Amino acid sequence: MEKTIFNVVSYSGGKDSTAMLLKMIEQGMQIDCVLFCDTGLEFPQMYEHIDRVERDTGLDITRVRPDMPFEYLMFDKPIKRRDSSPVKIKYGAGMTGHGWPGPKMRWCTRALKDTPRERFLKAFRPYYEMRYYVGIAADETKRLERKTNQNPAHVHPLVEWGMTEADCLEYCYSKGYDWGGLYELFDRVSCWCCPLQPLEDLRKLRVHFPELWEQLKGWDDRNFRTYKPDYTVRELEMRFQFEEECIRMGKPIRGKEFMAELRERLDAGRDGRREA
Ligand code: SF4
Repeated sequence: MEKTIFNVVSYSGGKDSTAMLLKMIEQGMQIDCVLFCDTGLEFPQMYEHIDRVERDTGLDITRVRPDMPFEYLMFDKPIKRRDSSPVKIKYGAGMTGHGWPGPKMRWCTRALKDTPRERFLKAFRPYYEMRYYVGIAADETKRLERKTNQNPAHVHPLVEWGMTEADCLEYCYSKGYDWGGLYELFDRVSCWCCPLQPLEDLRKLRVHFPELWEQLKGWDDRNFRTYKPDYTVRELEMRFQFEEECIRMGKPIRGKEFMAELRERLDAGRDGRREA
């Protein structure tokens, strides 16, 4: 017997998936579920935006969450490590938690998004033919080429409509959604604490979200992994303060001289901490 199609909108709350959802509604497309994987790490403005979209559209947004929060997974979760694990060798068998995620260790994507989503969706799979609407914009060609996005059950309406990332943002703005200005600061919006975000976004996080920046420092102080390969969060703060100092003095914040003085300051800070 042919299964009924179950149409799931993968909803992140960002500009692309919001544009996709609003346009799908406008075009009268069938929507059976709007699914948001809540990492617990979105900016407050993003949560407000999602609540507002839910109110405005009248659709129930299903929020799936991990069993344990990010903080527990990063610091306290008991982890079985192989004897050859560099973490076990360096810190001993008692070291708990994954530590900061990194480019080769994106445990957070699996734990905070993939696992909760799969746990929710697996109840539907035996009874329905699943169709997933994914908000990949028409100009995100690299993302589209990824193997997961070649899945025949995945549909990319923004590509079909020829909507680029800029079109999506413009469309959302035209409908009155502005995320409290988040997209005026950031090109992409995801977990505020993500170690994979560029320095440019971290500069803005420090200036515009000082409370989150303080939380980031606190998490980093307790972490056995360094936030960025070359910097702790406190070192990033030193760099950003030094940049501000240079700007005030009309000095460049790039180049050999800048980097040499920055290195000196960072080394002095590291020596000071070792002595303390
Ligand atoms: S945005 Fe960063 S912290 Fe959040 S799930 Fe993705 S990789 Fe992890």
